Amino acid sequence: MTSGSDVVVVGAGPVGLALALALHQRGMAVRVLERREGLSAASRASTFHPPTLDALDELGVFAGLRAGGVQVDRILWRRVDSGESASLDLGILSGETRFPFRWHREQQFLTPALLAALPAGTVRFGAGVEALEQDEAGVTLRCADGSTHRGRFAVGCDGAAGAMRNLAGIAAETSDYAHRVLRLLTPHDLREHIPGLDGLGYLYDGEGSCSLLRMPEVWRLIFRIPPGMSDEDAMAEGHARARIARFLPALRNLPLAGRDVYGVRKAMAVAYRAGRVLLAGDAAHLTNTRGGMNMNAGIHDAMTLAAALHPVLHGAGDALLDHWAAARLATVREALLPRTDARVAADPAGEVARMAALTPDQARAWAREASMLDIAKAGAPA
Ligand SMILES: Cc1cc2nc3c(=O)[nH]c(=O)nc-3n(C[C@H](O)[C@H](O)[C@H](O)COP(=O)(O)OP(=O)(O)OC[C@H]3O[C@@H](n4cnc5c(N)ncnc54)[C@H](O)[C@@H]3O)c2cc1C
Repeated sequence: MTSGSDVVVVGAGPVGLALALALHQRGMAVRVLERREGLSAASRASTFHPPTLDALDELGVFAGLRAGGVQVDRILWRRVDSGESASLDLGILSGETRFPFRWHREQQFLTPALLAALPAGTVRFGAGVEALEQDEAGVTLRCADGSTHRGRFAVGCDGAAGAMRNLAGIAAETSDYAHRVLRLLTPHDLREHIPGLDGLGYLYDGEGSCSLLRMPEVWRLIFRIPPGMSDEDAMAEGHARARIARFLPALRNLPLAGRDVYGVRKAMAVAYRAGRVLLAGDAAHLTNTRGGMNMNAGIHDAMTLAAALHPVLHGAGDALLDHWAAARLATVREALLPRTDARVAADPAGEVARMAALTPDQARAWAREASMLDIAKAGAPA
């Protein structure tokens, strides 16, 4: 038997679940299909930006999560050789958002909160989508468990390796960044050693940089590793200690609670709509993790798409979906990827001086862009 819904969402990651909840709260019948047997517990996104917090508050889930995360009010840039530093107070965004700060929490704590806010049974686990057919009235999806599901629309929120983009016949432009990333975790509070550090710091030595992110239980230390170095060599004790010593010489024996290496890719679907199938989140765009923007942008995709689908399902013309798809794609091409890449390419010799020289207006503009306040609502109906 085929189950029927207004919208079938494929993928129960942060984007699919945010979309499902936003649609449900607008009164639409939603089914979520998830290939795994449960939610992913992988350690991935750490950073939530102000417009995303506005969205999560609108969905009714942020109040319950807030105390479990870290509020970051100030960003620090610091040269470890000269001591030159710059800082930016995110409070300058007051008046534009209810939450003028970054909030650090692992994304695996968001997804259970979104799931719990949905009616029981909305998500079907163990249901990897394998085939798709669409006609003038809707989309039928067939899953590996033998079930079939029909919706008036289907949205692929199935991540970078999901099936929906290919099944919908949408091509993607992809490339790898040259570097990979070494992530070290320490329970030691780095604020005791670095003047002016709040919850996010970028340390520079003129030739490279290290990022420091405060999480609820640990700090993440993030380093780029060169192409050609194996994951094993990058994670080896000697290499990890040398990296720490380069940026935090007094802390070379810092206790470590974990370490891993991950690659970074760039991918962009060439369209976000093919008939009654739409794409959102990593299924549509993938960027470098620098700046912590990609999941945030995916949640913005979800919120704006829910706002566009609602009138369409109530009889408005589907030009609203074309507008959404074009606006979100333009946002990725013209803002998300260039912004992320500018951060990746920042000159380690000049970045601290550049940030220190910003006027108050330039600092506010930088913070708006880094927080995606200027693009979060792109694609929503007027
Ligand atoms: C180390 C790291 C750090 C990061 N830090 C940040 C950060 O600080 N800020 C930020 O904004 N972003 C960050 N990101 C990116 C962020 O993790 C992703 O953008 C985010 O997970 C995308 O969410 P999603 O729901 O689109 O996709 P996913 O989280 O990948 O979820 C997709 C879901 O679809 C399911 N699925 C796949 N195929 C199928 C199928 N055929 N049928 C049914 N279900 C399927 C998968 O099982 C999965 O549950 C980071 C990423 C990494 C790797």
